[in-house]
Amino acid sequence: MPKTVHFVNVYSLFNLKSQDKLRPHPIPVPAYQKWYNESLTQKSEPTPPPITNIFEYLHQEPPTENIEIALADVSSKDSVWDDHRYDTEQVGDIYGYNAEFERYAERMGDCSTFLAYGFSDDDLKLKNANFCRVRHCPVCQWRRSLFWKSNMYSVYDDIQEKYPTHRWLFLTLTVKNCDVTDLRATLKHMNESWQRLIKRAPFMRGVVGWIRTTEITKGKDGPTMAHPHFHVMLLVKPSYFSHNYIKQTQWGEMWQSVLRVDYMPVVNIKAVKANKKIGQSKEDAIKGAIMETLKYSVKPSDMIGEGTAKDNAWFYELTRQVFKLRFIASGGVLKDAFKPSDEITNDELITADESDDEHEKDDRRLVFTYKKPKHKYMYSPHFNI
Ligand SMILES: [Zn+2]
Repeated sequence: MPKTVHFVNVYSLFNLKSQDKLRPHPIPVPAYQKWYNESLTQKSEPTPPPITNIFEYLHQEPPTENIEIALADVSSKDSVWDDHRYDTEQVGDIYGYNAEFERYAERMGDCSTFLAYGFSDDDLKLKNANFCRVRHCPVCQWRRSLFWKSNMYSVYDDIQEKYPTHRWLFLTLTVKNCDVTDLRATLKHMNESWQRLIKRAPFMRGVVGWIRTTEITKGKDGPTMAHPHFHVMLLVKPSYFSHNYIKQTQWGEMWQSVLRVDYMPVVNIKAVKANKKIGQSKEDAIKGAIMETLKYSVKPSDMIGEGTAKDNAWFYELTRQVFKLRFIASGGVLKDAFKPSDEITNDELITADESDDEHEKDDRRLVFTYKKPKHKYMYSPHFNI
């Protein structure tokens, strides 16, 4: 008996109607594609904000090539950049005359050549810049010092909270001027002497914390002489003024003793207090002392001098002598007050003295570049973003 063959409608197995087979299924549009297509059709050029200030105007209506606008003319607080950058230019030139320091000259030539600013209604805020980080570059030294100052102001606020009745002293310690070729040895000796000083009983009884910077100026007693000295801020217990007081002459004797010298070194100690005559607050007085302590290690005018060969030789020798020496130190409860200079990041040199507000969404930038022939920063809108 032949097998019975049943013809089955295969569509019925899948519960499909025959016409479904003939019509291809539409491929669903992926969600991301929909979103993308929609955003394309909705997107239009953002309406520029109304021009209500000079910065907005400069950004939206950049001047033509033949109109030059200086940074100092649109932002007086930023006019200091011209001075510091001109110092860098001159110090860089001095390095450039000596093959030994040519590399520094090259790096300094490329220091802070552009400044990219964010802007608000009333001011500019530095958002990007390039720094060379050569130790004696005046711009880099200035930015580092600003960074340390702002660090120290916040340390000061903490200290005020923890030790509200403690007081600050400002101490200057000097030694006899030395020949610049003896500078390294002299500084080493001063450092060792300082280590002995902080272990002296009168010091330990009164002082709970200190910050110390090294400054070197040109000696007035000859073209090869140097005047190294320490600026120190001391945080002392309230009892320092009642029963642990150290007079200026005693500070002098202590410093002489730890230096192990037979002359009396020049020492100056004063309590940091408000100058009421000029309406200064205690906080301003302390911030003033912080500024004085952290200003610079070698002043640019001493690096530059009168441009004579002797002046240049002094600066070259100073550069060799202080290579890799640290000029900032702290101890006691202020031990961690400072980040070492080689750990300071480019961003920290940019923001330096200003807090960076993270909420700022506007990423447009006004760019100024340093024009060597003018010794000024000029508006360079073709670099704007
Ligand atoms: Zn620099």
